[in-house]
This record gives sequence, C-alpha cells and structure tokens, in this order.
Amino acid sequence: MTEKTDVVLIGAGIMSATLGALLRQLQPDWSITMFERRDAAAPESSDPWNNAGTGHSALCELNYTPQQADGSVDITKAIDINERFQVSRQFWSYGAENGILDDPSAFINPIPHVSFCHGADGVDYLRKRHEALSRHPLFDGMEFIDDADEFDRRLPLMGKGRDYAEPVALNWTETGTDIDFGALTKQLLAYLGSSGVDIAFGTEVTNLSKQRDGSWTIKVRNTRTRATRTVNAKFVFVGAGGYALPLLQKSGISEIAGFAGFPVSGQFLRCTNPELIAQHRAKVYGKAAVGAPPMSVPHLDTRVINGKAGLLFGPYAGWTPKFLKDGKMSDLVKSVRAGNLVPMLGVGVTELGLVKYLVSELAKSQAGKVNTMEEFIPRADGQDWELITAGQRVQIIRRKGAGGVLELGTAVIAAGDGSIAGLLGASPGASTCVSAMLDVMQRCFPSEYAAWTPKLKEMVPSLGVKLSENQSLFQEVWDWSTKALRLSDNTPVSAGVARG
Ligand SMILES: Cc1cc2nc3c(=O)[nH]c(=O)nc-3n(C[C@H](O)[C@H](O)[C@H](O)COP(=O)(O)OP(=O)(O)OC[C@H]3O[C@@H](n4cnc5c(N)ncnc54)[C@H](O)[C@@H]3O)c2cc1C
Repeated sequence: MTEKTDVVLIGAGIMSATLGALLRQLQPDWSITMFERRDAAAPESSDPWNNAGTGHSALCELNYTPQQADGSVDITKAIDINERFQVSRQFWSYGAENGILDDPSAFINPIPHVSFCHGADGVDYLRKRHEALSRHPLFDGMEFIDDADEFDRRLPLMGKGRDYAEPVALNWTETGTDIDFGALTKQLLAYLGSSGVDIAFGTEVTNLSKQRDGSWTIKVRNTRTRATRTVNAKFVFVGAGGYALPLLQKSGISEIAGFAGFPVSGQFLRCTNPELIAQHRAKVYGKAAVGAPPMSVPHLDTRVINGKAGLLFGPYAGWTPKFLKDGKMSDLVKSVRAGNLVPMLGVGVTELGLVKYLVSELAKSQAGKVNTMEEFIPRADGQDWELITAGQRVQIIRRKGAGGVLELGTAVIAAGDGSIAGLLGASPGASTCVSAMLDVMQRCFPSEYAAWTPKLKEMVPSLGVKLSENQSLFQEVWDWSTKALRLSDNTPVSAGVARG
C-alpha cells in the first residue's frame, strides 16, 4: 500500500529540521514525513562533535577577507556571510519567542571570535582587515590587538611560553557565538514531532521515482527489520548531507547531471584537561597553510556542549571515499556517472595542491598533530588531548567548460518544476541553514512564496533587505535577537570535558 503525504524530508539534520519548522509555521495543514536512516537525531555532520560549532559570521574566518595584490582587504564575501548568519539569528529568535525552540542557551552561547596572525606580514594584514571591517556596521566593535601583555591577558593559554620576539596580532570581536547544531536540531525536531510531523528513525530512503502527475514515490526500508514502506509525496527535500548527491542522482533529475562529490574527512584534538579548558574562552582562527583548502584553517575553539565548556583544536584533514561518517567505502565509486567523470578527472588534474596537502596531513602522527598545535599553544602537551573523528564533508565538483571545478560552498539543486530539491556541499554550512532553506522555498514554491511573505517577515524581519545597507533595521534585529537568544546573559559555564 502506498501512503500519501504532502512533504517528505530525507535526513534528520539541521537542514531538514529547519525546512520542516518553516513549512510547519507557513502551512500547518500540510502533512510532513521525515525519514532518518540512523536511530538518532542529527547523528552526522550536525552532531556537535562532528563540526566546530562556529556561528560563521565572518568575524574570525580569514578566508572570507582575502588580501588583494595591492595589499587591500576585500570584505565582500565577509558581508554576505554575516548577512546570512543574521537571517538564522532572527529565525532562531522568533523560534525562541514562539514555542518552536525551547532553551536558547542549550544551543547558542556567546564566545569571542578572534583572528590570529604572527609575523610582520600577518600583523599588517590583520591591521588592514580591522581597518576595513570595523568601519562597517555589521562588524562594529571589532578590536585590533598587537600588544603582548594584552594578548597574554585575553588568551592566557596561547600566551604562556610564547616568544614575543615575533610580532603577533588579533582581530577580536566579543559578540561571536558557539552553536551546538545537534541540540538546535533536536529542539526543532521536538517541535515538529509535537506538531504532528511523522518522524521515522532507523528508516533509510532507498529509491525515489517521479510519477506522471509530478509527485514522487519514495521507497524506504527499516534498517533493523528490513521491512519496506512506499510513500507518495508532492514535494521532497533531500537533506541527506553527504548522501544528497547519490539520492539526487537516483531521482534522475537533469539538474544533477555533471555534479560529483569529493569527500574530505577531518579530525580534531579534544582537550581532556579541565584546567586548560578554563584558561581559554574564544574561537581563535589562524591562516590556512599553503595549499590547504579554506575548510582546513587551524582553529582553537571553546565549545559549549551539554552546559559544559570544552576545547577543540583542528581540523586535521583526512581522506576516505565515504560520503557519510557512517557511509560505505563504495560511495565515491558508485557516484561516478558518464556525465560527471570528466569534471572529476578535471579536478584531479587542477587540484594537485589539495591532493599534496591531504597526503601530508594523512602522514602526520599524533605527535606531529600536537606539534602543529604549538603555533597556537606553545606549551601544548599531547597528554592533555585526544584525537576524535569529525564529520565527513562532500565538496562539490561541478562541470565547467570542458572540465570541472571544485567548490567549497553549498549549492541548492532544485528540479525545474520545484517538486524536489537537495543541498550539496558543507560550507559555511549549518550557520546559514535558514537562508539556504528560504532559497529552497523560493525556488520550489514560487506561487505560495508571495502569500507566505508577511508571515516570513514576522520570522525574519530583514527578509529581502540588506542589513548592511539599513543600519537602523540591523540595530533593531540585533537588539531583539540578542535578548531573545539570551546572548547578553553571558553566564560562565563550568569547564569540563563535555561529551555529546
Ligand atoms: C569537520 C566539520 C566542521 C564543520 N564546522 C562547522 C562550523 O563550525 N559551523 C557551521 O556552521 N558549519 C560547520 N560545518 C558544516 C555543518 O556541520 C553542515 O553544513 C550541516 O551540519 C549539514 O546539515 P545537514 O542537515 O545538511 O546534514 P547532516 O547533519 O549530515 O544530516 C543528514 C542526515 O541525513 C541522513 N541520511 C542520509 N542518507 C539518508 C537516507 N538515504 N535515508 C534517510 N536518511 C538519510 C543522515 O543519517 C544524516 O542524519 C562543519 C562540517 C564538518 C564536517
């Protein structure tokens, strides 16, 4: 028997959970069914220990503010990322005030965002970056610090044992955030469950086929009993993380032709010593090594998980052909199609620097990894750290000209008739989940979107407006979201070895 539903969401990560919550608010009469192959919510990239939990708003990530040949700093990308994060902050604030989200401090906490460089060129770059950004309303309050005593005072763990003969500098923004995207996803799923969404865990989508009437028939299998179900839906969102690519390929939509995936895994060093954790309270991002992709910039991160502060350093890149942490070794090979082979081979030739970087990272022992950390913590001791495996990223390979190009962002792939959409890629990721899902809705529901706009503006008051061009609206939504998300409370959390 084929069951009928209006919407199927594949995957119980932050993306499907966000889209589900938005649709529930806009169309409470639509039936929604969610399928998750694992027995838990947010078990893959959205799990707090599988990502770095940075509320990416370009306050500290140097890859969003490249230095130009003339020495100036381009802040265009930084403004775009920050704008998109403000959209997420607004929706979460609406959620906290309207019963969608329960306790904001369980998922978002204020932690300073800091950029760190050493050496004369690095200091000069951070000075210029500060000059360019601090004039901009979205980056108001950013400080430039190049004084050794102040460095020591703010970052004692990084200052201890440092040789200040080499100049150092920081760009410091007090209003950054740490986000537990797993906890946020769970709160959204609790809301979905309580509002009638059918959430089936341990249920894997195995196939999807387009019907003559434009709807989709989805085959699912219970991962324990192997029992199968067939569900018919008018709209499908493929929020399957690394498995979005193979599922969109199975759907047969023409829009996915020419796309391929390049999996990159990662590891973090997690601090096991509460005394060290208590000496650091910031997310400090450095510069990527030569040849390293932007997602591999080293950072030392305070995390707040389950009410306890923790500390992460990384990521160290790794490689496996799996598309999910819990995926299969055959994932990469099975994703090869006649239409994406040439783009894949093309990227293999043009991205030799990345391949070299991955090989050198893979060759690093745990002691080698601790040595890398000494740039941040001069007195790092391997005894205080354990190696953990982070989530799997599947970077996008897209056809370009006669070859292919590797992209480090995310892309919404939607069928021309709007009946199915999915999200490929991983950066800037979960922080921009609300703008990504608004994009899905605008492209897949063009006629409903106009009717939804008044309600959407309640949820995201800046919808359709660039906050960077409207300072008073920015101040208004900033003050509102700071209060709604309780970001000014700043209650210190106890240092501990938080485990999710
Ligand atoms: C190392 C690392 C660091 C990161 N750091 C940050 C950061 O600091 N800040 C930030 O904003 N973002 C960060 N990201 C990105 C962020 O984690 C992701 O963008 C985000 O979690 C993706 O959410 P998702 O819902 O698309 O995917 P996921 O959370 O991976 O969820 C997909 C779900 O789909 C399920 N699924 C897959 N196939 C099927 C199927 N056939 N049937 C049913 N279910 C299926 C999976 O089991 C999974 O639960 C990082 C990612 C990584 C890997």
